[in-house]
Amino acid sequence: MIRNAEKNILLLNQARVRALEELEKILTEKEALQGEINTLEMRLAETDARIKVATQEKIHVELLEDQLEKLQNELTHRGGSQRSEVDMFEDQNDPLIKEHKNGLSSLSMELNSLRSENLSLKNDIQALKEELINVKSTDERVVTLEKERSSLESAMKDLESRMSVSQEGVSKLSTLKVEYKDLWEKVETLQVLLDKATKQADQAIIVLQQNQELRKKVDKLEESLEEVNVYKLSSEKMQQYNELMQQKIRLLEDRLQRSDEEINSYVQLYQESVKEFQDALDSLKEDSKRKAIDGSVDDMPQEFWSRLLLIIDGWLLEKKISIDDAKLLRDMVWKRDGRICEAYKVSKEKTEREAVAAFLRLTSSTTSPGLYVIHIAAEMAPVAKVGGLGDVVTGLGKALQKRGHLVEVVLPKYDCMQYDHVHDLRALDVVVESHFDGQLFKNKVWVGSVEGLPVYFIEPLHPDKFFWRGQFYGEHDDFRRFSFFSRAALELLLQAGKNPDIIHCHDWQTAFVAPLYWDLYAPKGLNSARICFTCHNFEYQGTAPASYLESCGLDAHHLNRPDRMQDNSAHDRINPVKGAVVFSNIVTTVSPTYAQEVRTAEGGRGLHSTLNSHSRKFIGVLNGIDTDAWNPATDAFLKVQYSANDIQGKGENKEAIRRKLGLSSADVRKPLVGCITRLVPQKGVHLIRHAMYRTLELGGQFILLGSSPVPHIQREFEGIANHFQNHDDIRLILKYDESLSHSIYGASDMFIIPSIFEPCGLTQMIAMRYGSIPIARKTGGLHDSVFDVDDDTIPNQFRNGFTFLNPDEQGLNGALERAFNLYLNKPEIWKQLVQKVMIMDFSWDASAAQYEELYANSVARARAANRT
Ligand code: ADP
Repeated sequence: MIRNAEKNILLLNQARVRALEELEKILTEKEALQGEINTLEMRLAETDARIKVATQEKIHVELLEDQLEKLQNELTHRGGSQRSEVDMFEDQNDPLIKEHKNGLSSLSMELNSLRSENLSLKNDIQALKEELINVKSTDERVVTLEKERSSLESAMKDLESRMSVSQEGVSKLSTLKVEYKDLWEKVETLQVLLDKATKQADQAIIVLQQNQELRKKVDKLEESLEEVNVYKLSSEKMQQYNELMQQKIRLLEDRLQRSDEEINSYVQLYQESVKEFQDALDSLKEDSKRKAIDGSVDDMPQEFWSRLLLIIDGWLLEKKISIDDAKLLRDMVWKRDGRICEAYKVSKEKTEREAVAAFLRLTSSTTSPGLYVIHIAAEMAPVAKVGGLGDVVTGLGKALQKRGHLVEVVLPKYDCMQYDHVHDLRALDVVVESHFDGQLFKNKVWVGSVEGLPVYFIEPLHPDKFFWRGQFYGEHDDFRRFSFFSRAALELLLQAGKNPDIIHCHDWQTAFVAPLYWDLYAPKGLNSARICFTCHNFEYQGTAPASYLESCGLDAHHLNRPDRMQDNSAHDRINPVKGAVVFSNIVTTVSPTYAQEVRTAEGGRGLHSTLNSHSRKFIGVLNGIDTDAWNPATDAFLKVQYSANDIQGKGENKEAIRRKLGLSSADVRKPLVGCITRLVPQKGVHLIRHAMYRTLELGGQFILLGSSPVPHIQREFEGIANHFQNHDDIRLILKYDESLSHSIYGASDMFIIPSIFEPCGLTQMIAMRYGSIPIARKTGGLHDSVFDVDDDTIPNQFRNGFTFLNPDEQGLNGALERAFNLYLNKPEIWKQLVQKVMIMDFSWDASAAQYEELYANSVARARAANRT
């Protein structure tokens, strides 16, 4: 500061000196000019006087000229042959005329010279006047300069006084600096101490945690000790209690016996009635056959219906069906509904359980007529799959279809799709026109079925060839490509006259569907649906400059608001995921724990506040896996199929992959660790790398199948792959390979998922289905699906893997080492664990039921609202 002040003073001084010099120069100039003006004014006065004299002489000459003229005239009048007076006057020898003429010419010459002098004087005066004006303006400048000078002087004085104050400050500051240095040294020492203390605190926390666990155990022991003591103390009471209990047991046994008898009599009665019914039915066999053909049930004997009623009542009493189901079935009997007759015929040859199931299918289709669900998505396994989203669209779609709902999927028609998985693909003889950039573009529509689901593929006939890029994502114009697709998909539904109950869109690529639906399509009549949006990963939100939204016909001005689509951190950008959260009726993510995590500032990637304000419609539903596609008992990609009952085939697959990838087969018992993943920071790439080296140190083998959209990560892993290319125990395959992924799941003993965050994660579930034990970090969906074998706070039947909390090497080492330990030292327990995880239910059944409920509730609410 002081240095600045000094610099300023110096500058001001220089400016002042310059100003004074200029002032002096101007004053001298002014004086010189004044002198010149004086001389000129004098000359002017002189010239004026001479002009006056000349003018008088001129008048005199003019008078003489007049007289001369008069004389000439007189001479002309006197006439004749006489020479004219003029001639006389003109006579060169006449001295008067000669004198006059000479005087006249010298006068006119003088007059001319005076005139020109006068003119030059006038010019001089003019120039002087101008200079005078300059001098005046110089005067004014002098005044301003003087003002400036005085203000500069006062500023300088001010600065000087401030400098003296600052100099005092400087001396203080240097003292402070010394003190500061001392303090800083102290702070550094303290920092070192703090680090040490933090480490000690961390250790202390660990010890504390251990202590707490020990304390819990001690507490438990104490409790049981107390109990024992209490029991000891009150052994008399205990005896009484025992007696009481025994009485109760006797009573219960009596009641049990009685109810057994009752049930037996019932069963007997029921069996008799079924037999009777069977007999009667046999006799009517021919009749029923005929009725099955023509579908008429009117002439079935009354006895048939009565027996049916009896069967239904029997099942009700035996609690095989609910009161509501029984009521519905009775109603069907009462109304002589042909379907119940058909159901009986179908289940007649089957077991009773199958018969009950067949009848219950009737009631479920009566109570729930089924929903019409359309998924609009950017991926669908196996035709267009990049990650979990593709699996979810197919898995959930199939599970909903199995539950009796009508499910359709709308996908972009990518050039790089697995066309061999699309059945009966054909182009419809129709084009659907959709708006983009203010113009209409044609779209070709293709249909085909994938995994039994009907799929519409949209091929935009846009000059930018949106889906002819040889890859699904990662193009510079992804925002345009998918906003175009979202609009074209809705246009297709509108033009096809569809009236779905639910339109389910996924991730930012089809998040546009929600605002497009309410802003543009519901007003056009596509208004039967509720919108469900699932975000599979909040890391990807597809933000873009607000104006980009205009291309697909959305009003950027109207939507770029904090309560609509405006990005929460960049206010000139819009956020499609936020838009879908705001504009959808149901918002889901893919696991309950992740749903909690994204509602916090650390996990929400900027959307936590939006999710919290829409929390009533936001829920986490754990994904399932497609257990038909992922089934080691039928998997055609495997060398040998196997199941939980017979896991020998797993060993053969391990051997096969070792041979295929050139790994050593010397030790059959060497554990094989697998990892299949996108190599992105989210997946904990540094921990994956560490796991490879640690596995080798622990004497295991490692196979990594993965690829990375991040160039430097891809390069890094290519380096590792090259380094290990001839190694006996490790192989890195850096590409996407569906068939190899199946082989790795089938061959590996353990499967590593050290994610930093994981919305759901499917690989841990698939791995378990193939008997590969997951080693996973406790986060998001991994936390909801992998339960540590050593965690006794969790019921034993759910424990299925090895988990760790801290995303660091120590955390991973702990879990990996425990897994190796169990595998190598307790092979029987390991085998049981493998069999146990293989039969755990990770199917879509439970999750699809949850989605069904969410859909149905939303539809019911909308209908109720429409009625009122
Ligand atoms: P994300 O969706 O984040 O990629 P998920 O665990 O939900 O992760 O889903 C990953 C899916 O992608 C699994 O079906 C997995 O088998 C598959 N996958 C990942 N990488 C590859 C690869 N390189 N080759 C074959 N399949 C892969």
